[in-house]
Parts: sequence; structure tokens; C-alpha cells
Amino acid sequence: MNDVLVLSNIESAYGPIKAIRGVSLRVARGRIVTVLGSNGAGKTTILKTISGIIDPRKGSVVFRGVDITAKDPTFIVRQGLSHVPEGREVFPLLTVHENLLMGAYTRGDRDAVARDMEQVYTYFPILRDRQKQQAGLLSGGQQQMLAISRAILAGPELILLDEPSLGLSPKLTKDIFEIVIRINRERGTTILLVEQNANMALNAADHGYVLENGRVVMEDTCENLRAKDDIREFYLGQK
Ligand code: ATP
Repeated sequence: MNDVLVLSNIESAYGPIKAIRGVSLRVARGRIVTVLGSNGAGKTTILKTISGIIDPRKGSVVFRGVDITAKDPTFIVRQGLSHVPEGREVFPLLTVHENLLMGAYTRGDRDAVARDMEQVYTYFPILRDRQKQQAGLLSGGQQQMLAISRAILAGPELILLDEPSLGLSPKLTKDIFEIVIRINRERGTTILLVEQNANMALNAADHGYVLENGRVVMEDTCENLRAKDDIREFYLGQK
């Protein structure tokens, strides 16, 4: 079986508010899969449910054949799954370099960590220049680069990426998406990408799900999704 992640019939809620109402989705190994949807559709909640931040009321999450439903987030990271949360959440008082080391805290192989450190500095040279600076002093775009880099330092098979374009200029968004694609191609890392910027997401990803009110309303290859009238009108702003 080639699916690295399988969600079956997930329901998640915040008290009485049902955010996810029976979502099933699959992410094939080595691919970029995107979840599109407007504000409040439930995209962030899906990622939080996968990484163990929220326990679902129903359904299951299986990662590399292991049932990780409602498991401890640290256990899930150790299985090879890293989450880059919305809003980045870097450690503001630690330096760039220290933030990256924090990403590697579950790993024992120092040589592999050193190689990954070198690779993220190649992807984002500005982080090498700023490695001794406190992360809180970086710009929003640089913090996004750091958050993605920190996830790579965990050496994951799958990265969950929540709204990497949030608050960034079109130019920076394009740069970050280019690196996300390189991470996928060069490292073979599978990526589950949540985005409001449907244009960027559909160009970067292979397969897409469209979420509305906590339900999947459409699923297809990104090529097919781009051609659909509903997607063009509501998500891409084209007539
Ligand atoms: P956004 O792009 O705004 O992050 P989203 O598609 O990621 O949107 P979620 O953040 O997953 O959507 O929210 C899904 C639903 O759950 C929304 O109705 C939201 O108001 C609600 N919700 C999210 N977080 C909480 C919370 N901590 N407490 C209560 N309700 C919440």
C-alpha cells in the first residue's frame, strides 16, 4: 500500500462546535496533497487532529500503517510526522540555530542532523546569515522559513503545512512554495498542505480536497480541480 496517511471518517469538535464532520482522506507517499477551503472550513482542525493536538470524537488516523488516533504529539513526531502550525510559532527568545536544534530533539543521529542543518541553510540562505539572531526578531517570511526548516530537522516522512502564505507578500509566497516543492522532490518528503491561496496550492500539489463546513465536497487531481467551473469561480477568482 502506498498511502502514507489515511484518515477515515474523522469527526472533531470544540465543545458543542462540530468543526470536522466525517472527513476521509488519503495521502500517497512522495506526493504533495492540498486541502482547500475558505475561512473556518476546518482545515486547521484536520491538521491538529492528525498531529495529536486535538483528539477526534470519531474516526481514525493511520500513519505508515500505525494507528496514531489521539496519540501523544511527541509519539507522533517520533513516527516521522512534523507539523508546521499556522502562525509559525517559533521560539522567539531562542536563536535561529537553537530553534533548528529544537526541531531535531527526537533524533540521535548527529551526522544526519548536521546534513539536514546544512540543507536547510542551502534552501534558505538568509537563515544562515541570521543563525545567531533571536527568532523573534525575524520578519514574518523569515519566521515561516524557520518554521519549515525546523520541521525538516525532525527528519520527517510527512510534513503538515498550515497556511504557509499567511501574511506574506506574493513574491515571498512564491519563493516559499518553490522551496516546498524542492523539499518534496529532493528529499522525497510527503507534504499535506492547507492553504487559502488556492492558486499556489493547486500549482504545487498533485492531488486536492475541497473542504466546506467540515466536509469534503470535492476531491480530484489538481489538474482536474483547476479546470472545474466551481473552483475557478470560488477559489481562483476566474470567470
Ligand atoms: P482558517 O483558515 O480561518 O484557519 P480553517 O479552515 O483552518 O480556517 P478551523 O480553524 O479548522 O478552520 O476552524 C473550523 C471551525 O472550528 C470554525 O467554525 C472555527 O470557528 C471553529 N474553531 C476553531 N478553533 C476553535 C477553538 N479553539 N474553539 C472553538 N471553536 C473553534
